[in-house]
Amino acid sequence: MVEKFVKVKVVVPGVHYWSRSPVAYLAYPHRHLFHIQVCVRVKSEDREVEFFALQKLILNKLTESYEPFSEPPLPLNFVTASCETIASHLLTKLRECELDVVSVEVSEDDENSAFVVWKEEQDEKG
Ligand SMILES: [Zn+2]
Repeated sequence: MVEKFVKVKVVVPGVHYWSRSPVAYLAYPHRHLFHIQVCVRVKSEDREVEFFALQKLILNKLTESYEPFSEPPLPLNFVTASCETIASHLLTKLRECELDVVSVEVSEDDENSAFVVWKEEQDEKG
């Protein structure tokens, strides 16, 4: 059996900060290009979700969740959200759209990233 996945990438400018960062300047609001990759399991080769539609949905979920930092529409103000926080939030929001999202990766400037993976909850009975 072959499992099939589609993966799309969206790049969005955003500002955030990490007040307890061990690196002093990261405690102040700073801009990144956040590279966001979403992987969705699909059932057929006539994929259930179209690439451009998925990119648009990702952008919609981000702009619904985060305000612009200063002048709309961008950069988004991620406030204290880390890459892990953004990825987890986005994974949850996209799964609410009936998509079998298996992972979301968020990188800062296409350099360092956080990667979250959907995991079905374990059955209590084992
Ligand atoms: Zn940063």
